[in-house]
Amino acid sequence: MNSVPNSERRHIVFVGKRNVGKSSLVNAFIGQDLCIVSEVAGTTTDPVKKAMELLPYGPIVLVDTAGIDDVGELGEKRISKTIKAITSSDFAIVVLEASEQLSPKEWELFSYLNKISIPYVIAVNKIEFGINQLLLSEIKWLNATHFEVSCAENVGIDALKRKVVRLLPNEIGPPLISDLVSQGDVVVLVVPIDLGAPKGRLILPQVQTIREALDEDTIVVVAKDKELRSVLYNLKNPPDLVITDSQAIMRVAADVPENVKLTTFSILMARHKGDLQTFVKGLRVIDELNDNDKILIAEACTHHPQEDDIGRVKIPRWLRSYTKKDLQFDVTSGLDFPNNLSDYKLIIHCGGCMLTRRAMKMRIKESQIFDIPIVNYGILISYMHGAVPRALLPFEEAIEEWEKR
Ligand code: SF4
Repeated sequence: MNSVPNSERRHIVFVGKRNVGKSSLVNAFIGQDLCIVSEVAGTTTDPVKKAMELLPYGPIVLVDTAGIDDVGELGEKRISKTIKAITSSDFAIVVLEASEQLSPKEWELFSYLNKISIPYVIAVNKIEFGINQLLLSEIKWLNATHFEVSCAENVGIDALKRKVVRLLPNEIGPPLISDLVSQGDVVVLVVPIDLGAPKGRLILPQVQTIREALDEDTIVVVAKDKELRSVLYNLKNPPDLVITDSQAIMRVAADVPENVKLTTFSILMARHKGDLQTFVKGLRVIDELNDNDKILIAEACTHHPQEDDIGRVKIPRWLRSYTKKDLQFDVTSGLDFPNNLSDYKLIIHCGGCMLTRRAMKMRIKESQIFDIPIVNYGILISYMHGAVPRALLPFEEAIEEWEKR
């Protein structure tokens, strides 16, 4: 069983024109037939993901994509999904046909990879049919590392894997809580079980926080918000840290003594996945919003919206009530982050627990390119409920940013 969530694994995307052998290379990489391979161009439509262990590196996800030269209206949509898959990945393997020269689409692809600073190597595939020497000169001109491979004859695949292991970025981002606690600390986690909670399980940020707290040899107490007072009453000493679901922050802040460190799962995630300072900076625009300002709510996964959905219902309601302005909201989910952000006054992003850190940082970077402030759910909710700066106090960098206001 794969115990590491996909969002914590490095993503390797396989890109190239149709029919150059991307799916065959993915299959050769994992040593099994995951992807459908066909002589018919364009067999892969939506990106296909496979989690695996790449030894000695560790857990990764391979992403097979549709061809960058796909055609027609549907083809355009597939290309757009391929581009989003590239942007969300940590490393790219560009697959080229050994007998051809680079096409204009492939030149564009290389310039895009350089623009977004994603590391890549080239796999020159189908060498059993010969290698075009002009292609090798073009690769030399690109100053890129390439491997000559044949998926059909299983040539060059191991060397490619070894190189990927050496080049894969190792950045894992700040921890969730391990730098906030010490051995023997008591950490109380407040987890409301309401209609929005998934049936029979905890959500990923809660599970990851519990695991990290246990790894640090702390004592973890998990309770629903209505049991918190009883937990605090029964503990011999006040806890060292309380972490709550953002939606319960007001009640929890009222119950937890002022001298106890308090924050939210969403703020932990904002630091772990994104950039806490940028999100805190984004709060500055809240009190300047006006009637008809457009706000983007971005969720990183697709889920069936609940009746009182946090992104679609609660946050718009709270923000209209807080600002007393008639605000307009657009909601996107999954990979559908808009290419053009210029219409928005503010982006409110979910915790991004399903996104890799690189993908979250790319979204932050895009918001900065358009000069649009960005916040995340938890920071905004804490702010609107009067729990900022308290919920930011455990994080020096966030408080520094807050004090610049
Ligand atoms: S909406 Fe965002 S924070 Fe919520 S589960 Fe999906 S990815 Fe995680």
